[in-house]
Amino acid sequence: MSNSTDIKKFKASLRGELIERGDPRYDEIRKLYNGMVDKRPLLIARCVNVADVISAVHFGRDQKLLIAIRGGGHNGPGLGSCDDGLVIDLSTMKGVHVDPETRTVRAEPGCTQGDMDHASHAFGLAVPAGIVSTTGIAGLTLGGGHGYLSRKYGLTIDNLLETDVVLADGRFVKANSSQHQDLFWALRGGGGNFGVVTSFVYRAHPVSLVYGGPIFWDVKHARRVMQWYREFLPQAPEELCSFFGLKTVPSTAPFPEEIWGRKICALISCFIGPREDAEVVMKPIFGELPSPLFKHVDTMPFPALQSLFDPLLPTGLQWYWKGDFVKELPDEAIDAHLEHAAKAPSELSLTHLYPIDKAVHRVSRNNTAWNCRNATWSMVIAGIDPNPHKAKEITKWAKEYWEAIHPFTIGGAYVNFMMEEGQERIQATYGENHARLSAVKKKYDPDNLFRVNQNIKPAP
Ligand SMILES: Cc1cc2nc3c(=O)[nH]c(=O)nc-3n(C[C@H](O)[C@H](O)[C@H](O)COP(=O)(O)OP(=O)(O)OC[C@H]3O[C@@H](n4cnc5c(N)ncnc54)[C@H](O)[C@@H]3O)c2cc1C
Repeated sequence: MSNSTDIKKFKASLRGELIERGDPRYDEIRKLYNGMVDKRPLLIARCVNVADVISAVHFGRDQKLLIAIRGGGHNGPGLGSCDDGLVIDLSTMKGVHVDPETRTVRAEPGCTQGDMDHASHAFGLAVPAGIVSTTGIAGLTLGGGHGYLSRKYGLTIDNLLETDVVLADGRFVKANSSQHQDLFWALRGGGGNFGVVTSFVYRAHPVSLVYGGPIFWDVKHARRVMQWYREFLPQAPEELCSFFGLKTVPSTAPFPEEIWGRKICALISCFIGPREDAEVVMKPIFGELPSPLFKHVDTMPFPALQSLFDPLLPTGLQWYWKGDFVKELPDEAIDAHLEHAAKAPSELSLTHLYPIDKAVHRVSRNNTAWNCRNATWSMVIAGIDPNPHKAKEITKWAKEYWEAIHPFTIGGAYVNFMMEEGQERIQATYGENHARLSAVKKKYDPDNLFRVNQNIKPAP
Protein backbone atom coordinates (compact mmCIF):
# COMPACT_ATOMS: atom_id res chain seq x y z
CA MET A 1 0.00 0.00 0.00
CA SER A 2 1.39 3.42 -0.95
CA ASN A 3 2.22 5.74 1.93
CA SER A 4 1.13 9.35 2.10
CA THR A 5 4.54 10.71 1.09
CA ASP A 6 4.51 8.61 -2.09
CA ILE A 7 1.00 9.77 -2.86
CA LYS A 8 1.93 13.42 -2.24
CA LYS A 9 4.89 13.10 -4.61
CA PHE A 10 2.70 11.47 -7.22
CA LYS A 11 0.10 14.22 -6.85
CA ALA A 12 2.76 16.89 -7.30
CA SER A 13 3.91 15.20 -10.50
CA LEU A 14 0.50 15.59 -12.15
CA ARG A 15 -1.01 18.54 -14.00
CA GLY A 16 -4.41 16.93 -13.55
CA GLU A 17 -6.02 16.14 -10.21
CA LEU A 18 -5.49 13.14 -7.99
CA ILE A 19 -8.74 12.13 -6.32
CA GLU A 20 -8.45 10.23 -3.06
CA ARG A 21 -11.13 8.47 -1.04
CA GLY A 22 -11.68 11.41 1.36
CA ASP A 23 -12.32 13.86 -1.48
CA PRO A 24 -15.93 15.16 -1.47
CA ARG A 25 -16.07 14.54 -5.23
CA TYR A 26 -14.83 10.95 -4.94
CA ASP A 27 -18.25 9.28 -5.19
CA GLU A 28 -19.28 11.36 -8.19
CA ILE A 29 -16.03 10.91 -10.08
CA ARG A 30 -15.74 7.16 -9.53
CA LYS A 31 -19.26 6.51 -10.93
CA LEU A 32 -19.42 4.39 -14.06
CA TYR A 33 -22.02 4.38 -16.81
CA ASN A 34 -23.36 1.00 -15.68
CA GLY A 35 -25.10 1.64 -12.36
CA MET A 36 -24.86 -2.08 -11.56
CA VAL A 37 -21.09 -1.75 -11.09
CA ASP A 38 -19.85 -0.05 -7.93
CA LYS A 39 -16.05 0.05 -7.69
CA ARG A 40 -14.03 1.90 -5.06
CA PRO A 41 -10.55 2.72 -6.36
CA LEU A 42 -7.83 3.88 -4.00
CA LEU A 43 -6.77 6.70 -6.29
CA ILE A 44 -8.13 8.29 -9.44
CA ALA A 45 -5.53 10.15 -11.51
CA ARG A 46 -7.42 12.53 -13.77
CA CYS A 47 -4.76 12.88 -16.41
CA VAL A 48 -4.74 15.95 -18.65
CA ASN A 49 -1.76 15.09 -20.83
CA VAL A 50 0.69 12.36 -21.80
CA ALA A 51 3.13 13.38 -19.06
CA ASP A 52 0.43 12.68 -16.47
CA VAL A 53 -0.21 9.27 -18.02
CA ILE A 54 3.51 8.38 -17.94
CA SER A 55 3.70 9.45 -14.31
CA ALA A 56 0.60 7.42 -13.42
CA VAL A 57 1.91 4.28 -15.14
CA HIS A 58 5.25 4.55 -13.28
CA PHE A 59 3.51 5.17 -9.95
CA GLY A 60 1.01 2.34 -10.35
CA ARG A 61 3.69 -0.12 -11.42
CA ASP A 62 6.25 0.88 -8.75
CA GLN A 63 3.59 0.78 -6.01
CA LYS A 64 2.30 -2.59 -7.29
CA LEU A 65 -1.22 -1.20 -7.59
CA LEU A 66 -3.93 -2.76 -9.69
CA ILE A 67 -4.34 -0.36 -12.64
CA ALA A 68 -7.54 0.38 -14.56
CA ILE A 69 -7.67 2.66 -17.59
CA ARG A 70 -10.77 4.76 -18.03
CA GLY A 71 -11.88 6.35 -21.29
CA GLY A 72 -15.60 7.02 -21.49
CA GLY A 73 -16.47 4.66 -18.59
CA HIS A 74 -19.17 2.94 -20.70
CA ASN A 75 -17.86 -0.58 -20.47
CA GLY A 76 -20.53 -3.14 -19.47
CA PRO A 77 -18.64 -4.90 -16.66
CA GLY A 78 -17.03 -1.60 -15.59
CA LEU A 79 -13.51 -2.38 -16.76
CA GLY A 80 -12.72 1.33 -16.75
CA SER A 81 -12.31 1.15 -12.97
CA CYS A 82 -11.14 -1.18 -10.21
CA ASP A 83 -11.42 -1.75 -6.48
CA ASP A 84 -8.54 -0.59 -4.28
CA GLY A 85 -6.24 0.28 -7.16
CA LEU A 86 -5.30 3.21 -9.38
CA VAL A 87 -7.62 4.47 -12.10
CA ILE A 88 -5.81 6.23 -14.92
CA ASP A 89 -8.76 8.43 -15.81
CA LEU A 90 -8.48 9.93 -19.29
CA SER A 91 -12.01 11.29 -19.42
CA THR A 92 -10.92 14.93 -19.36
CA MET A 93 -8.52 14.50 -22.31
CA LYS A 94 -11.01 15.61 -24.94
CA GLY A 95 -9.00 17.29 -27.69
CA VAL A 96 -10.15 16.58 -31.27
CA HIS A 97 -8.34 17.93 -34.31
CA VAL A 98 -9.85 17.49 -37.75
CA ASP A 99 -7.71 17.93 -40.83
CA PRO A 100 -10.10 18.44 -43.75
CA GLU A 101 -7.28 18.23 -46.31
CA THR A 102 -6.09 14.77 -45.35
CA ARG A 103 -9.56 13.79 -44.07
CA THR A 104 -8.11 12.62 -40.79
CA VAL A 105 -9.20 13.13 -37.20
CA ARG A 106 -6.87 13.04 -34.21
CA ALA A 107 -8.80 12.47 -31.00
CA GLU A 108 -7.76 12.16 -27.37
CA PRO A 109 -8.98 9.17 -25.34
CA GLY A 110 -11.50 11.05 -23.18
CA CYS A 111 -13.62 11.89 -26.22
CA THR A 112 -17.08 10.48 -26.49
CA GLN A 113 -18.62 9.49 -29.77
CA GLY A 114 -20.52 12.79 -29.64
CA ASP A 115 -17.32 14.82 -29.18
CA MET A 116 -15.82 13.25 -32.29
CA ASP A 117 -19.02 13.52 -34.35
CA HIS A 118 -19.44 17.17 -33.40
CA ALA A 119 -15.92 18.13 -34.42
CA SER A 120 -15.97 16.12 -37.67
CA HIS A 121 -19.45 17.18 -38.78
CA ALA A 122 -18.37 20.81 -39.08
CA PHE A 123 -16.20 19.63 -41.99
CA GLY A 124 -18.84 17.33 -43.50
CA LEU A 125 -16.90 14.31 -42.26
CA ALA A 126 -17.51 11.36 -39.93
CA VAL A 127 -15.41 8.54 -38.48
CA PRO A 128 -17.12 5.11 -38.44
CA ALA A 129 -17.85 4.22 -34.81
CA GLY A 130 -20.83 3.52 -32.51
CA ILE A 131 -24.45 4.64 -32.44
CA VAL A 132 -24.85 6.30 -29.03
CA SER A 133 -23.16 9.65 -28.59
CA THR A 134 -22.18 9.23 -24.93
CA THR A 135 -20.00 6.12 -25.53
CA GLY A 136 -16.26 6.61 -25.11
CA ILE A 137 -14.24 6.31 -28.31
CA ALA A 138 -11.23 4.76 -26.56
CA GLY A 139 -12.74 1.52 -25.31
CA LEU A 140 -14.99 1.35 -28.37
CA THR A 141 -12.06 1.66 -30.79
CA LEU A 142 -9.76 -0.76 -28.98
CA GLY A 143 -12.52 -3.39 -28.98
CA GLY A 144 -13.28 -2.90 -32.71
CA GLY A 145 -16.13 -0.42 -33.07
CA HIS A 146 -19.21 -0.99 -35.20
CA GLY A 147 -22.08 1.29 -36.13
CA TYR A 148 -24.10 2.87 -38.91
CA LEU A 149 -21.08 3.43 -41.18
CA SER A 150 -19.52 -0.04 -40.85
CA ARG A 151 -21.11 -1.62 -43.91
CA LYS A 152 -19.71 1.08 -46.16
CA TYR A 153 -16.51 2.10 -44.41
CA GLY A 154 -15.64 -0.77 -42.05
CA LEU A 155 -15.08 -1.02 -38.33
CA THR A 156 -13.57 1.84 -36.36
CA ILE A 157 -10.27 -0.09 -36.27
CA ASP A 158 -10.34 -0.40 -40.07
CA ASN A 159 -10.12 3.40 -40.10
CA LEU A 160 -7.51 3.70 -37.39
CA LEU A 161 -4.24 5.05 -38.81
CA GLU A 162 -2.12 5.63 -35.76
CA THR A 163 -2.08 5.54 -31.97
CA ASP A 164 0.18 7.11 -29.35
CA VAL A 165 0.74 4.65 -26.52
CA VAL A 166 2.30 4.72 -23.06
CA LEU A 167 3.61 1.22 -22.43
CA ALA A 168 3.79 -0.72 -19.15
CA ASP A 169 7.42 0.36 -18.64
CA GLY A 170 6.42 4.02 -19.07
CA ARG A 171 7.89 4.38 -22.56
CA PHE A 172 5.95 6.42 -25.11
CA VAL A 173 5.66 4.95 -28.61
CA LYS A 174 3.74 5.50 -31.82
CA ALA A 175 2.07 2.48 -33.35
CA ASN A 176 1.01 2.56 -36.98
CA SER A 177 1.51 0.61 -40.19
CA SER A 178 5.28 1.23 -40.15
CA GLN A 179 6.22 1.66 -36.48
CA HIS A 180 5.54 -1.01 -33.85
CA GLN A 181 3.39 -2.85 -36.38
CA ASP A 182 2.81 -5.78 -34.00
CA LEU A 183 1.43 -3.44 -31.36
CA PHE A 184 -0.70 -1.63 -33.92
CA TRP A 185 -2.12 -4.96 -35.07
CA ALA A 186 -2.97 -5.98 -31.49
CA LEU A 187 -4.52 -2.64 -30.54
CA ARG A 188 -7.02 -3.03 -33.38
CA GLY A 189 -9.44 -5.26 -31.49
CA GLY A 190 -7.29 -6.48 -28.60
CA GLY A 191 -8.69 -3.93 -26.13
CA GLY A 192 -6.77 -2.10 -23.42
CA ASN A 193 -4.27 -4.93 -22.92
CA PHE A 194 -1.14 -3.40 -24.38
CA GLY A 195 -0.73 0.10 -22.98
CA VAL A 196 -2.51 3.39 -22.39
CA VAL A 197 -3.51 4.95 -25.69
CA THR A 198 -3.21 8.71 -25.45
CA SER A 199 -4.21 9.62 -29.00
CA PHE A 200 -6.03 8.01 -31.93
CA VAL A 201 -5.73 9.11 -35.56
CA TYR A 202 -8.61 8.05 -37.80
CA ARG A 203 -9.51 8.22 -41.46
CA ALA A 204 -12.75 10.20 -41.86
CA HIS A 205 -15.30 10.00 -44.66
CA PRO A 206 -17.66 12.44 -46.34
CA VAL A 207 -20.82 11.81 -44.34
CA SER A 208 -22.95 14.80 -43.43
CA LEU A 209 -26.70 14.50 -43.95
CA VAL A 210 -28.09 10.98 -43.79
CA TYR A 211 -31.54 9.51 -44.26
CA GLY A 212 -32.76 7.19 -41.55
CA GLY A 213 -34.27 6.59 -38.13
CA PRO A 214 -36.42 3.96 -36.42
CA ILE A 215 -39.39 1.96 -37.75
CA PHE A 216 -41.43 -0.14 -35.30
CA TRP A 217 -43.83 -3.01 -35.95
CA ASP A 218 -46.06 -4.73 -33.44
CA VAL A 219 -44.34 -7.86 -32.13
CA LYS A 220 -46.97 -10.03 -33.78
CA HIS A 221 -45.14 -9.27 -37.06
CA ALA A 222 -41.68 -9.98 -35.63
CA ARG A 223 -41.25 -13.46 -37.16
CA ARG A 224 -42.16 -12.14 -40.59
CA VAL A 225 -39.91 -9.10 -40.26
CA MET A 226 -36.95 -11.21 -39.07
CA GLN A 227 -37.36 -13.71 -41.89
CA TRP A 228 -37.58 -10.89 -44.38
CA TYR A 229 -34.64 -9.00 -42.84
CA ARG A 230 -32.28 -12.00 -42.99
CA GLU A 231 -32.78 -12.10 -46.76
CA PHE A 232 -32.91 -8.34 -47.34
CA LEU A 233 -29.87 -7.17 -45.43
CA PRO A 234 -27.09 -9.16 -47.12
CA GLN A 235 -28.11 -8.01 -50.58
CA ALA A 236 -28.91 -4.39 -49.59
CA PRO A 237 -26.39 -1.79 -50.84
CA GLU A 238 -23.70 -1.01 -48.32
CA GLU A 239 -24.84 2.62 -48.11
CA LEU A 240 -27.73 1.31 -46.04
CA CYS A 241 -27.22 0.06 -42.51
CA SER A 242 -30.37 -1.29 -40.85
CA PHE A 243 -29.98 -2.91 -37.51
CA PHE A 244 -32.73 -5.10 -36.09
CA GLY A 245 -34.19 -4.85 -32.59
CA LEU A 246 -36.67 -6.63 -30.33
CA LYS A 247 -37.80 -4.02 -27.86
CA THR A 248 -40.62 -2.29 -26.00
CA VAL A 249 -41.87 1.20 -26.86
CA PRO A 250 -40.63 3.44 -24.03
CA SER A 251 -43.43 5.18 -22.12
CA THR A 252 -42.17 8.64 -22.92
CA ALA A 253 -42.21 11.35 -25.58
CA PRO A 254 -41.63 11.48 -28.53
CA PHE A 255 -43.45 8.12 -28.86
CA PRO A 256 -47.25 8.37 -29.21
CA GLU A 257 -48.87 7.57 -25.86
CA GLU A 258 -51.17 4.94 -27.36
CA ILE A 259 -48.20 2.68 -28.13
CA TRP A 260 -46.27 3.14 -24.88
CA GLY A 261 -45.25 -0.20 -23.39
CA ARG A 262 -46.08 -2.18 -26.55
CA LYS A 263 -43.69 -5.01 -27.42
CA ILE A 264 -42.27 -4.37 -30.89
CA CYS A 265 -39.65 -5.31 -33.40
CA ALA A 266 -37.69 -2.52 -35.03
CA LEU A 267 -35.40 -1.62 -37.86
CA ILE A 268 -33.20 1.36 -37.19
CA SER A 269 -31.62 2.59 -40.38
CA CYS A 270 -29.05 4.98 -41.76
CA PHE A 271 -28.60 5.58 -45.48
CA ILE A 272 -25.47 7.42 -46.58
CA GLY A 273 -26.58 9.38 -49.62
CA PRO A 274 -29.42 11.50 -50.96
CA ARG A 275 -33.02 10.95 -49.91
CA GLU A 276 -34.10 9.93 -53.43
CA ASP A 277 -31.60 7.05 -53.44
CA ALA A 278 -32.52 6.07 -49.90
CA GLU A 279 -36.19 5.90 -50.78
CA VAL A 280 -35.46 3.50 -53.63
CA VAL A 281 -33.27 1.25 -51.49
CA MET A 282 -35.66 1.30 -48.54
CA LYS A 283 -38.81 0.88 -50.62
CA PRO A 284 -39.08 -2.86 -49.88
CA ILE A 285 -39.20 -2.10 -46.14
CA PHE A 286 -42.45 -0.25 -46.71
CA GLY A 287 -43.71 -2.25 -49.69
CA GLU A 288 -43.09 -5.83 -48.56
CA LEU A 289 -43.75 -5.68 -44.83
CA PRO A 290 -46.91 -4.99 -42.81
CA SER A 291 -47.70 -1.38 -41.96
CA PRO A 292 -45.47 -0.13 -39.18
CA LEU A 293 -46.79 1.02 -35.82
CA PHE A 294 -44.43 3.97 -35.74
CA LYS A 295 -41.81 5.50 -37.97
CA HIS A 296 -39.49 8.43 -37.66
CA VAL A 297 -37.46 8.28 -40.84
CA ASP A 298 -36.16 11.46 -42.39
CA THR A 299 -33.12 13.36 -43.56
CA MET A 300 -31.04 14.49 -40.63
CA PRO A 301 -27.49 15.52 -39.76
CA PHE A 302 -25.43 12.43 -38.93
CA PRO A 303 -24.77 13.58 -35.33
CA ALA A 304 -28.54 13.89 -34.81
CA LEU A 305 -29.04 10.24 -35.73
CA GLN A 306 -26.09 9.33 -33.53
CA SER A 307 -27.71 10.95 -30.50
CA LEU A 308 -31.32 9.88 -31.17
CA PHE A 309 -31.32 7.33 -28.34
CA ASP A 310 -29.23 9.27 -25.80
CA PRO A 311 -32.19 10.54 -23.74
CA LEU A 312 -33.40 6.96 -23.18
CA LEU A 313 -30.01 5.81 -21.92
CA PRO A 314 -28.68 8.19 -19.26
CA THR A 315 -25.72 7.30 -17.03
CA GLY A 316 -26.48 5.11 -14.04
CA LEU A 317 -29.00 2.59 -15.39
CA GLN A 318 -28.57 -1.06 -14.46
CA TRP A 319 -27.11 -3.02 -17.39
CA TYR A 320 -26.39 -6.68 -17.88
CA TRP A 321 -25.53 -7.68 -21.39
CA LYS A 322 -24.26 -10.62 -23.33
CA GLY A 323 -23.28 -10.85 -26.96
CA ASP A 324 -22.38 -13.29 -29.68
CA PHE A 325 -21.53 -13.21 -33.35
CA VAL A 326 -24.27 -14.47 -35.64
CA LYS A 327 -23.80 -15.71 -39.19
CA GLU A 328 -27.27 -16.95 -40.02
CA LEU A 329 -30.72 -16.55 -38.58
CA PRO A 330 -32.55 -19.89 -38.96
CA ASP A 331 -36.23 -20.19 -38.04
CA GLU A 332 -35.31 -22.07 -34.83
CA ALA A 333 -33.19 -19.12 -33.71
CA ILE A 334 -36.03 -16.73 -34.52
CA ASP A 335 -38.37 -18.88 -32.38
CA ALA A 336 -35.96 -18.71 -29.46
CA HIS A 337 -35.61 -14.94 -29.88
CA LEU A 338 -39.34 -14.42 -29.86
CA GLU A 339 -39.90 -16.67 -26.85
CA HIS A 340 -37.32 -14.85 -24.72
CA ALA A 341 -37.91 -11.32 -25.96
CA ALA A 342 -41.56 -11.74 -24.95
CA LYS A 343 -40.37 -12.16 -21.33
CA ALA A 344 -38.30 -8.94 -21.30
CA PRO A 345 -38.39 -7.74 -17.69
CA SER A 346 -38.33 -3.99 -18.41
CA GLU A 347 -39.15 -1.45 -21.11
CA LEU A 348 -35.52 -0.71 -21.86
CA SER A 349 -34.35 -4.32 -22.15
CA LEU A 350 -33.54 -5.18 -25.74
CA THR A 351 -31.91 -7.38 -28.33
CA HIS A 352 -30.05 -5.83 -31.23
CA LEU A 353 -28.47 -7.38 -34.30
CA TYR A 354 -25.88 -5.01 -35.77
CA PRO A 355 -24.75 -5.69 -39.35
CA ILE A 356 -21.03 -6.23 -39.73
CA ASP A 357 -20.87 -7.40 -43.33
CA LYS A 358 -19.74 -5.71 -46.60
CA ALA A 359 -16.70 -3.46 -45.86
CA VAL A 360 -16.02 -5.37 -42.61
CA HIS A 361 -15.70 -8.57 -44.63
CA ARG A 362 -13.28 -6.96 -47.07
CA VAL A 363 -10.57 -6.93 -44.39
CA SER A 364 -9.04 -10.32 -43.75
CA ARG A 365 -9.46 -12.09 -40.40
CA ASN A 366 -5.82 -11.79 -39.43
CA ASN A 367 -5.26 -8.29 -40.75
CA THR A 368 -6.24 -6.94 -37.33
CA ALA A 369 -6.81 -8.71 -34.00
CA TRP A 370 -10.60 -8.64 -34.64
CA ASN A 371 -11.20 -12.16 -35.77
CA CYS A 372 -14.93 -12.74 -36.32
CA ARG A 373 -15.19 -11.14 -39.75
CA ASN A 374 -17.15 -14.09 -41.08
CA ALA A 375 -20.21 -13.09 -39.03
CA THR A 376 -23.17 -11.22 -40.48
CA TRP A 377 -24.30 -9.61 -37.24
CA SER A 378 -22.97 -8.71 -33.84
CA MET A 379 -25.74 -9.55 -31.40
CA VAL A 380 -26.33 -8.00 -28.01
CA ILE A 381 -28.97 -9.02 -25.48
CA ALA A 382 -29.18 -6.30 -22.83
CA GLY A 383 -31.23 -6.28 -19.64
CA ILE A 384 -31.58 -2.59 -18.75
CA ASP A 385 -33.55 -0.85 -16.02
CA PRO A 386 -33.20 2.24 -13.82
CA ASN A 387 -34.18 0.36 -10.65
CA PRO A 388 -31.26 -1.32 -8.79
CA HIS A 389 -33.77 -3.73 -7.25
CA LYS A 390 -34.31 -5.20 -10.70
CA ALA A 391 -30.62 -5.99 -11.21
CA LYS A 392 -31.04 -9.70 -10.51
CA GLU A 393 -34.11 -10.02 -12.70
CA ILE A 394 -32.59 -8.33 -15.75
CA THR A 395 -29.41 -10.37 -15.31
CA LYS A 396 -31.34 -13.63 -15.15
CA TRP A 397 -33.34 -12.72 -18.23
CA ALA A 398 -30.29 -11.80 -20.31
CA LYS A 399 -28.43 -14.97 -19.28
CA GLU A 400 -31.34 -17.31 -20.01
CA TYR A 401 -32.06 -15.60 -23.32
CA TRP A 402 -28.39 -15.88 -24.30
CA GLU A 403 -28.25 -19.59 -23.33
CA ALA A 404 -31.13 -20.23 -25.72
CA ILE A 405 -29.57 -18.32 -28.63
CA HIS A 406 -25.92 -19.27 -28.18
CA PRO A 407 -26.23 -22.63 -30.03
CA PHE A 408 -27.23 -20.69 -33.17
CA THR A 409 -24.18 -18.40 -33.09
CA ILE A 410 -20.63 -18.87 -34.30
CA GLY A 411 -19.00 -18.70 -30.84
CA GLY A 412 -17.18 -15.74 -29.43
CA ALA A 413 -18.62 -12.30 -28.94
CA TYR A 414 -17.73 -8.71 -29.59
CA VAL A 415 -15.46 -7.96 -26.59
CA ASN A 416 -17.32 -4.71 -26.02
CA PHE A 417 -20.56 -6.66 -25.53
CA MET A 418 -19.16 -9.05 -22.94
CA MET A 419 -19.39 -9.06 -19.18
CA GLU A 420 -16.53 -10.79 -17.32
CA GLU A 421 -17.06 -14.21 -18.86
CA GLY A 422 -13.69 -15.93 -18.50
CA GLN A 423 -10.75 -16.97 -20.64
CA GLU A 424 -12.65 -19.53 -22.71
CA ARG A 425 -14.93 -16.83 -24.11
CA ILE A 426 -12.01 -14.51 -24.79
CA GLN A 427 -10.20 -17.28 -26.65
CA ALA A 428 -13.32 -18.14 -28.65
CA THR A 429 -13.62 -14.49 -29.63
CA TYR A 430 -10.06 -14.10 -30.88
CA GLY A 431 -9.81 -17.59 -32.34
CA GLU A 432 -6.63 -18.10 -34.31
CA ASN A 433 -5.48 -14.56 -33.45
CA HIS A 434 -5.33 -15.32 -29.73
CA ALA A 435 -1.85 -16.87 -29.71
CA ARG A 436 -0.44 -13.90 -31.64
CA LEU A 437 -2.10 -11.49 -29.20
CA SER A 438 -0.51 -13.35 -26.27
CA ALA A 439 2.89 -13.02 -27.91
CA VAL A 440 2.42 -9.26 -28.41
CA LYS A 441 1.23 -8.98 -24.81
CA LYS A 442 4.38 -10.72 -23.63
CA LYS A 443 6.54 -8.31 -25.59
CA TYR A 444 4.82 -5.09 -24.45
CA ASP A 445 3.33 -6.00 -21.05
CA PRO A 446 5.08 -9.16 -19.79
CA ASP A 447 3.88 -8.72 -16.19
CA ASN A 448 0.26 -8.16 -17.20
CA LEU A 449 0.22 -4.71 -15.61
CA PHE A 450 -2.83 -3.85 -17.72
CA ARG A 451 -5.19 -6.64 -16.73
CA VAL A 452 -8.46 -4.86 -15.92
CA ASN A 453 -9.89 -5.67 -19.33
CA GLN A 454 -10.94 -8.69 -21.38
CA ASN A 455 -7.56 -10.02 -20.49
CA ILE A 456 -5.05 -11.50 -22.90
CA LYS A 457 -2.46 -13.28 -20.78
CA PRO A 458 1.20 -12.89 -21.79
CA ALA A 459 2.46 -15.97 -23.64
CA PRO A 460 4.37 -18.33 -21.33
C1 LIG B 1 -25.28 2.73 -24.54
C2 LIG B 1 -24.15 2.03 -25.22
C3 LIG B 1 -24.11 1.95 -26.59
C4 LIG B 1 -23.06 1.30 -27.25
N1 LIG B 1 -23.06 1.25 -28.60
C5 LIG B 1 -22.01 0.68 -29.25
C6 LIG B 1 -21.93 0.70 -30.66
O1 LIG B 1 -22.81 1.19 -31.35
N2 LIG B 1 -20.86 0.14 -31.25
C7 LIG B 1 -19.84 -0.41 -30.54
O2 LIG B 1 -18.88 -0.87 -31.15
N3 LIG B 1 -19.88 -0.46 -29.19
C8 LIG B 1 -20.94 0.07 -28.53
N4 LIG B 1 -21.00 0.05 -27.17
C9 LIG B 1 -19.98 -0.71 -26.42
C10 LIG B 1 -18.76 0.15 -26.15
O3 LIG B 1 -17.90 0.01 -27.24
C11 LIG B 1 -18.06 -0.34 -24.87
O4 LIG B 1 -18.91 -0.13 -23.78
C12 LIG B 1 -16.71 0.35 -24.66
O5 LIG B 1 -16.04 -0.32 -23.63
C13 LIG B 1 -16.85 1.80 -24.31
O6 LIG B 1 -15.61 2.44 -24.24
P1 LIG B 1 -15.31 3.49 -23.06
O7 LIG B 1 -14.05 4.20 -23.40
O8 LIG B 1 -16.52 4.30 -22.79
O9 LIG B 1 -15.12 2.45 -21.87
P2 LIG B 1 -14.25 2.39 -20.54
O10 LIG B 1 -15.17 1.76 -19.55
O11 LIG B 1 -13.64 3.69 -20.18
O12 LIG B 1 -13.11 1.38 -20.97
C14 LIG B 1 -13.39 0.14 -21.52
C15 LIG B 1 -12.15 -0.71 -21.66
O13 LIG B 1 -11.22 -0.10 -22.52
C16 LIG B 1 -10.00 0.15 -21.86
N5 LIG B 1 -9.54 1.50 -22.22
C17 LIG B 1 -10.30 2.63 -22.22
N6 LIG B 1 -9.56 3.65 -22.64
C18 LIG B 1 -8.33 3.18 -22.90
C19 LIG B 1 -7.13 3.76 -23.39
N7 LIG B 1 -7.07 5.04 -23.70
N8 LIG B 1 -6.05 2.97 -23.54
C20 LIG B 1 -6.10 1.67 -23.26
N9 LIG B 1 -7.21 1.06 -22.81
C21 LIG B 1 -8.31 1.80 -22.63
C22 LIG B 1 -10.29 0.04 -20.39
O14 LIG B 1 -9.19 -0.41 -19.67
C23 LIG B 1 -11.41 -0.96 -20.35
O15 LIG B 1 -10.89 -2.27 -20.35
C24 LIG B 1 -22.02 0.70 -26.49
C25 LIG B 1 -22.06 0.79 -25.09
C26 LIG B 1 -23.11 1.42 -24.45
C27 LIG B 1 -23.15 1.46 -22.96
